[in-house]
Parts: sequence; C-alpha cells; structure tokens
Amino acid sequence: MSNNHANTDRNLTTMQQRSLKAVWHPCTQMKQHETYPLVPIVRGKGVWLYDAEGKRYLDAISSWWVNLFGHANPVINNAIRDQLEKIEHVMLAGFTHEPVVSLSERLKKITPGSLGHCFYASDGASAIEIALKMSFHYWLLCGQPRKNRFVSLQNDYHGETLGALSVTDVAIFKETYAPLLRPCTHVPTPDWRYAEKGESAQDYALRAAAALENHLAKHHEETAALILEPLVQGATGMGMYHPVYLQRAREICDRYQVHLIADEIAVGFGRTGTLFACDQANITPDFMCLSKGLSGGYLPLSVVLTTDTVYQAFYDDTAARAFLHSHSHTGNALACRAALAALDIFEQDSVIATNQSKTAYLNTRAAALVEHPKIRNFRNCGMIWAFEVDTGDRDFAAQCFQAGLQQQLLLRPLGNTIYFMPPYIITNEEIDHLIDGTVRVLSTI
Ligand SMILES: *Cc1c(COP(=O)(O)O)cnc(C)c1O
Repeated sequence: MSNNHANTDRNLTTMQQRSLKAVWHPCTQMKQHETYPLVPIVRGKGVWLYDAEGKRYLDAISSWWVNLFGHANPVINNAIRDQLEKIEHVMLAGFTHEPVVSLSERLKKITPGSLGHCFYASDGASAIEIALKMSFHYWLLCGQPRKNRFVSLQNDYHGETLGALSVTDVAIFKETYAPLLRPCTHVPTPDWRYAEKGESAQDYALRAAAALENHLAKHHEETAALILEPLVQGATGMGMYHPVYLQRAREICDRYQVHLIADEIAVGFGRTGTLFACDQANITPDFMCLSKGLSGGYLPLSVVLTTDTVYQAFYDDTAARAFLHSHSHTGNALACRAALAALDIFEQDSVIATNQSKTAYLNTRAAALVEHPKIRNFRNCGMIWAFEVDTGDRDFAAQCFQAGLQQQLLLRPLGNTIYFMPPYIITNEEIDHLIDGTVRVLSTI
C-alpha cells in the first residue's frame, strides 16, 4: 500500500516534469512553471475539473470559452460515440456526409438573414483567414482588386495566425511579429469604458461609429472588409459595447461597399444572451465566423457562413474562380456530430431562456463584488461577467490563478480583469461557490 502511494506521489511530480520537458504550452512563459506547477487534469464532469489528487476546480471560464454544456456531457458523449461507429472522418473535397450537411442546414436556419454556404475549418484563426481571403477574392472577382485592405476595431482580437494577427490589436500578441504582418487600420473601439464622464454607452458607441464613417469615407476604395468582435471584445479584457454600434457599422459598410465580417467565435451560441450577438442589433453580416462553442467545446471545429451574393461570385465553370482553400480536417464528421448534439441541447433545454434566470441569479449574488472596494467597472452581457481589480501587482493574473485553485476555482484573469464565462449548465449552488470563492480570492491577494 505504502509503496503504491509513494508511486502515485512520484508519478504526479513526474507528470508535471514530463509535461515541462515534452510539451510547449500555449500562451505561457514556460519558466514560470518552475514556480507555478502545471495542474494535471484527469477527468471532468459538468462544471468541474478533477486533478490527479482528486481536487476539483469549477471551470469558471469554460476552458478558454469553449465549453457550453459541461465536461463529459452525456448528450454530446453519446452522439460522438454513435458517430465513431459510422465514420470518424472523410475528406470533404469530392465527398460529403450526413453530419456536415445537417449541421450546415441548421446553421443556415439559426443564423441571421440569408447567411448560409458553410465553409469549415478546425480552429477560430483559420475561420478568420477564410473570411479575409473570401472577402478580398470576392472583390477581385468583381473587378475591384484595389480592395485589399482590412479595418478592425481598436482592442479587437481575431486569433494569432499571421492574417488573423494582422487584424488583431493586442500589443502583447502582435508587437513581436509586426514585421511579418499586413498593415491594418484599427478604428476607435466602442467599448463604453472609453466614454467621457457623463457620456452614455450609446452616445459613445455613436461617436465611435462616426470615426468609422470618417475612415471609410476616405479609404473605402482600398478596403475589402471591416472585421469586428460583436458586443464583447474578449481577449483584451471583455470590453462591452452598445448594439447601436453594430447597426451603424452595417449601414456604413453598405454605404461604402465594404464587407462586414462578424467574428462570433467567442460570443456566438448564446454567450451574450441571444443566440448570436448580431441578433441584438438585428443585422446580417456578410461573413460570420463561428468556432469555440460550436462543437460544445468538445472538438476543434470552425465555420464561416456567407451570403448568396458572395457565393454566386465564385460559382462558375472555371476552377480559377473557385475558392481554392482547404484544411485536412475540414468538416470532420465527429466534430459536426458534436455540434449537432450541442444544437439539440439548445432546443430541448430552451437554453437561451434558462440562461436568463442564471444571469439574473448571478447578478443578485454579485452584489458582494460590485460593492467591493478593490473593484471597478463591474459589467455583464448575457453569460459573460467582468471587472477590473485595483492592483499595482504586475504578477496579478498568475497570483489570482493560484489563489483561485485554492478556492476550487479555475479563474484566468486577463491582466487585472477577472471575468466569468461559465458553462451554461452551472447551477445556483455552483454560482454561489463561484462568487464566494472569488470574494475570498480578492481578500487573499
Ligand atoms: C479565440 C478567438 C479566435 C481564435 O480562435 P482559435 O480557435 O483560438 O484560433 C478568434 N476570434 C475571437 C473573437 C476569439 O475569441
């Protein structure tokens, strides 16, 4: 017995060491893990992650915003198991299959306006590359090759491959690689934290939209598309803005013949309180990018939906006018089945309506945070909450992460912004755990 136990102890350390030696972890200064050991996760259930010692952590950020319906969700597990016995993957050039067809039909039905024609990839950044290339290529096919520039919002994040990084405006990810990137204009963000004292979120959004109009009035002839994160700018710290900005952006893009690309990779599938963030502005973008929650967060899958107008410009007798872009795992059958199961859950459990009461409950419980002397800008949009913590500590995020683990919480602040983006299956009791734990984290650091 004691031998076994010693073994387990040694294995745990070994596991952390093996990971350090063999795995180059994302978004990480690896040397930090000499001080902060990696957390080896062995299983998950619902909102909970369990480590090798049996300690549990409430996944308050849905494992980087992907997990909608909890870990080891029985509906999604069963769907994947069933699909596994049929076909796990087949190339999507020249072939098709039921899961990809059904998913495309259902996405067409639930996305705004006439969006359809689903083009698949495996991750969010690739979906952005696809939307940018398609937009440019469309204008080229229309005899407007000069339209080859992109505009995005100040503080936007669209992923980290070179094209996606070009339209991203987050210095920490971008500065080093600047020589590799295409120039892109970032127009002022509508994020209400930038409003003047006394200026409403709506007035500020209108002022930001006027800046967009100024830019496009001068530069529309060389601009293919405006790309933006609708309603919530995630990676820079959950900046939130008024939907009137999206309405104005749509009008302005129409006026100047510029595509509107909605990057709903983080906000799609109910995060902002509606199925898609664009729904709150009642607009249809020319391209909509979806990923993260698309497969319930289970498997890597992304998709770009576009309009008939764009699709028809490529539809021709010659391959030269086709969109010759591909990824090996395009339309992976297992991932599409997981996505279909996630859509089933949305319908069967009336998720959007149920989330409203969870949002309301968390907001009443959050009074302790709103009134906390260290906290500023407490804000909420659907199933996203965020606030800034007054701290001069440059190591705040890492310390908060560690203090969170002590409180059975997975929190991963963005700088001094703590945010919650829990799986939708979170219960009121688990919300209590989240709020009480966060208050304790604030008092320990
Ligand atoms: C995460 C994210 C991406 C990139 O997706 P990956 O799958 O990480 O490449 C793009 N845009 C937004 C808004 C995101 O949140």
